[in-house]
Amino acid sequence: DELINKISAGEVVVSPASVIKELVENSIDAGADHIKIKIENGGKTKILVSDNGIGIKSDEMGLAFNKNATSKIDSLDKLSSIDTLGFRGEALFSISVVSKVKIRSKYKDENIGTSATVINGKVQNIKNLALNTGTRIEVEDLFYNTPARRKHMKSAKAEKTASLDIISKLAIANPSIAFSVYSDNKEVFVTLGDNNIRNVVSVILGHEFVSKMIEVDYDDEPLTVKGFTLSPNYLDRQNEESIFIINGRYVKNDTLNKVINNIYREQYGLFTKRISYVLYIRLPYNFTDVNIHPAKTSISFRNETLINMLICEGVRSALRESIN
Ligand code: ADP
Ligand code: MG
Repeated sequence: DELINKISAGEVVVSPASVIKELVENSIDAGADHIKIKIENGGKTKILVSDNGIGIKSDEMGLAFNKNATSKIDSLDKLSSIDTLGFRGEALFSISVVSKVKIRSKYKDENIGTSATVINGKVQNIKNLALNTGTRIEVEDLFYNTPARRKHMKSAKAEKTASLDIISKLAIANPSIAFSVYSDNKEVFVTLGDNNIRNVVSVILGHEFVSKMIEVDYDDEPLTVKGFTLSPNYLDRQNEESIFIINGRYVKNDTLNKVINNIYREQYGLFTKRISYVLYIRLPYNFTDVNIHPAKTSISFRNETLINMLICEGVRSALRESIN
């Protein structure tokens, strides 16, 4: 049984970055507007995520780490909407099977918080503790009990790059949440959480990146496209970041990426590198098909050709305006 747990944990928990993603998505689902993340050795030895979300009820603390525990899905049709990031109730359980977990949480309507340690999905040492509302989860020594997976982890430097990359995307996707990020006790970035996409993109990708972009602000009911795309004045500066945020989630969509690159090719000639952009796309949930896969990072559209065309029109109109 323990072996099976360790194997199935591998589907969700493949690296420090995947642990971070699951923990931060839980914080987002809990309604946090401030999330603090600290990693050590790229997350290999320590990952700490604390939030000011609604917290976990003291009598549900033991449940949160159960296999298939989720408080988020009361109906099956919720599965098709992507407003809730987690729904399988596997993440905390899986993480606790392959690492040493400490948790503290206080539910918003309770007076006292709870702390506990978790080994193999079993919550131990539950104690009451005075805490502010929110949740703090500390994950130590990832894969300490699964040597094969531990060996599979990359160097601290490479895992740090991957971890900071996923954190950056989560922060860019959530401009109304203030993220404070530290690696080996040094500040990496602090976003304001003021719901201003220029601010969040500047903090994370740099003012220089933003200065080479033109703004996209396109509205064709029920679809909107906002953000930044490479200015035609900086066509030599490509290959930096190409990011889609669809309905508040960072997703990959290779087709859409190709279509956007083609706009630049048609207008400005051939280049081999990727065009840089950060595009926030909103459209009704029933226009999208999120892969029901643990990682949930790829998305496809129903009526893909039409949707891609509309999104492109957003980029095209920004390019037109930049010339005028
Ligand atoms: P899922 O997110 O798919 O529901 P998880 O294993 O990630 O499953 O989390 C299990 C449950 O633990 C969640 O449904 C939620 O009730 C609770 N939980 C986890 N993290 C937090 C958090 N940061 N704040 C509040 N509740 C949380
Ligand atoms: Mg979750």
